[in-house]
Amino acid sequence: MSEREQPPRKEPGRESPWELAVGPAPEHWDDWVELDPQAWPKRVERHYRCIPTICFNCESACGLLAFVDKQTGVIEKFEGNPVHPGSRGRTCAKGPATINQVRDTERILKPLKRKGARGGGEWEEVSWDEALDDIGGRIRKALLEDRHDDVMYHVGRPGEDHFVLRMLKAWGVDGHNSHTNVCSAAARLGFSTWFGADRPSPDYSEAEFALLLSAHLETGHYFNPHAQRIMEAKERGMKIAVVDTRLSNTCTHADRWISSWPGSEAALLLGVARELLARDTIDHAFVERWTNWRAFLAARDASGPGTFARFLELLRTEYERFTPEFVVEECKVEPGTVEYLADEIAAAGSRFTSHLWRNAASGNHGGWQVARALLFLHVLSGSIGTPGGLNPNSWDKFAPEPPLEPPPHSRWNEKLFPKEFPLAHYEMSFLLPHLLEHQDSKIDVYFTRVYNPVWTNPDGCSWIEMLESEERIGLHIALTPTWSETAQWADYILPMGLGPERHDIMSQETHAGTWIGFRQPVGREFHRMQTGESASTLGTNPGEVWEEAEFWIALTWRIDPDGSLGISKFFESKERPGEAQTMDEYFGDIFDHSVPGLPEAAQAEGVTPLEYMRRYGAFDISYQGQQRYEREGEVELEGGDRKVGFKTPSGLLEFYSPTLSEWGFDEHAIPNYIKSQVNWRGIDFEKGERALLPTFRLPTLIHTRSANAKWLQEISHTNPLWVHPEDAEALGLTQASLARVTTAIGYFIVRVWVTEGIHPGVVACSHHVGRWRMHCEVGGTKLASSLVEIRREDGTFFFRQKQPVGPFESSDPDTQRVHWKETGVNQNLTFPVQPDPASGMHCWHQLVTVSPAEADDQYGDIFVDTKKSREVFQEWMAKTKPAPVQGLRRPLWMNRPLRPTDDAYRL
Ligand code: SF4
Repeated sequence: MSEREQPPRKEPGRESPWELAVGPAPEHWDDWVELDPQAWPKRVERHYRCIPTICFNCESACGLLAFVDKQTGVIEKFEGNPVHPGSRGRTCAKGPATINQVRDTERILKPLKRKGARGGGEWEEVSWDEALDDIGGRIRKALLEDRHDDVMYHVGRPGEDHFVLRMLKAWGVDGHNSHTNVCSAAARLGFSTWFGADRPSPDYSEAEFALLLSAHLETGHYFNPHAQRIMEAKERGMKIAVVDTRLSNTCTHADRWISSWPGSEAALLLGVARELLARDTIDHAFVERWTNWRAFLAARDASGPGTFARFLELLRTEYERFTPEFVVEECKVEPGTVEYLADEIAAAGSRFTSHLWRNAASGNHGGWQVARALLFLHVLSGSIGTPGGLNPNSWDKFAPEPPLEPPPHSRWNEKLFPKEFPLAHYEMSFLLPHLLEHQDSKIDVYFTRVYNPVWTNPDGCSWIEMLESEERIGLHIALTPTWSETAQWADYILPMGLGPERHDIMSQETHAGTWIGFRQPVGREFHRMQTGESASTLGTNPGEVWEEAEFWIALTWRIDPDGSLGISKFFESKERPGEAQTMDEYFGDIFDHSVPGLPEAAQAEGVTPLEYMRRYGAFDISYQGQQRYEREGEVELEGGDRKVGFKTPSGLLEFYSPTLSEWGFDEHAIPNYIKSQVNWRGIDFEKGERALLPTFRLPTLIHTRSANAKWLQEISHTNPLWVHPEDAEALGLTQASLARVTTAIGYFIVRVWVTEGIHPGVVACSHHVGRWRMHCEVGGTKLASSLVEIRREDGTFFFRQKQPVGPFESSDPDTQRVHWKETGVNQNLTFPVQPDPASGMHCWHQLVTVSPAEADDQYGDIFVDTKKSREVFQEWMAKTKPAPVQGLRRPLWMNRPLRPTDDAYRL
């Protein structure tokens, strides 16, 4: 048996102290031998093929190795892929638990079609052919009748780069919808208005100080790839401060935990900016060269001298109100917090890094200003794009495209980007039921894909009302490997491959480096290796589970079988004109032409680029380095230098955003603080009101996708309400008692956890559990969902758990060992929509009233009144600043995931 070996490659140019042995090296992948643990004490060897693929459980795209028994062809386990540059052989708990999902005894293995009424729980098997004909025919009809806006694809976890966007572009529909505005749209607006890229990419490898506004070590964006780099940096001496209202596991690894009032984070950061300015510990040269301070002076101090010194003077005046004393009061943090952060940032200088993605930005009205304020600190310290600083994500992520790209369409779908939200960073997805009602419109063909809005989004009962209405949704196709709350109201359920059952290309900004990963269907690849023949995933995946890319290509050819719509040519085989592309052709074309350095690397090993990617599962693209804005380019600086600069309208870092100013947010055109909907001043504590923080993840679960992983469910299966001891006493709650939490549109009953790990005055509840189903055998996995009864009356919904989670019969004896009963509460159902008027982000935090449960209340009860949710929707709509501005629906420089022509931006 071979010894486990050190990974053969390290990050280019970096000395990495990762000494733990990870995964077998590639030269052993064709025949990896281990002793069978089940046969112990006998020494029985088992021979595996190790096939690389990519995890699909969160967005990090870590590399996995599937261990396939060479005798049986069965996948026995998953471990990390040691040659993946992002994850470097490591995974979190969810990566290896992929084996649970593959072997899930309740997974959907055949296409299903609804019988009877929507939501009635009656299904029949249907052939793929029949489903393709029906759906393809309907889309073709919509396109021929110029009803392109009637087709919509709504995605939760994309898990791939570019394929579906290109397909929708080929169809010519403005029909891409996403989950982003319940996730990260706020931070994206804040980052993009500063530096033209909508995400940060921290370089922990050389940082001296990291400020994390998130539970980033355990559940953050790019969780495992970032966490391992943070811990390496910490071992090297990097200091860490974590701003989080709740004592997360991340806080326990920090040098300083800063528990601030939720929604006050921008005030804290601006207090630090004030302190840096007051001490004059800022990078003058960088700020003067790279910010648009002249535009700020022109707008706000036109009659002034127009000098940089004047700019600094105005800055100090502008932020004077954010004194340490104000911050202590407003943010309810310990005295000395501002000074501590200013000390650390000043000491780290250009080696100050940070991370903010969801967390503080995603809970609050004005949350996008948290990102604006955070980036302000980076600008002041000159730590943008430096070693140990913060890169724009666009430097580090790379999404290759096929050489033949369809032209952009010229449509604008108001169901996605309504006029009221011209700056919404992504589609206004969570408002869809309200928008359809408000606009009195319909979607004829609606795909939900790895997307469970009934459970995940706020106001899920309005989603139920929309999905059951055939006047609003003509045909609902749920593309999903497993049951979900939303799939219960589908017309078709089409079983799509899990992570190791599909092809995708993925790249993420995990560090100061660039890579692509290749997810591949393990069964198909094993078949190819054994027989030398490429097959379809329909046949090499379990049951009749298909992969999405093959499905979409087949559907495209049903929509346009003779090519007369000009669509199918984008998925046509070059070798066999008139026929659909295979996966080998589609991905081979990209790897041959669109990934710098890959053809040369493949040639050096005597293989094609596609064979290289099938062999290793990832490719490390030669890194272009940092401080790219200083390279020769198109942006003319004062003094005549022409540099690359940033992708903002001015090419500079926009301290002052003319876009925000012109589009109705002039007051907030510079980093500023917007009081949130859960500001403590607006809370009547005596009446039992509190701020509810509902946004945190559990490290071992991932939204709607991990319910079918038995190991993960055993570890985490419930979501108690975190209550500080002072609040418990004031509210009459005791450890493990039941509480009623009342929102603006309903209430839920939940178990109490009294803990000092939460800020007094705030209660917290994770959104990762609380799954439910309406029917015993269909609609949800029995491992993770309670069976509920829903009583409905005049727009109200009352959910009661009829049967908790417990042991059940299946082919897996472990399902008889389910020892827990409480499976959490779907609190999101009771949240009204609260769209931020600028970013369009749902502002998750809730002003709630907390009281002991009443006599008839039972654990898991949920009540919602959708009439009230419509009222709250209207209240938030009144805050919006609708287009047009200068005849435009949206600033031309602001992108969209599926960008139409510039003409479509004009109203
Ligand atoms: S961090 Fe995300 S992608 Fe990586 S192993 Fe965990 S769940 Fe999978």
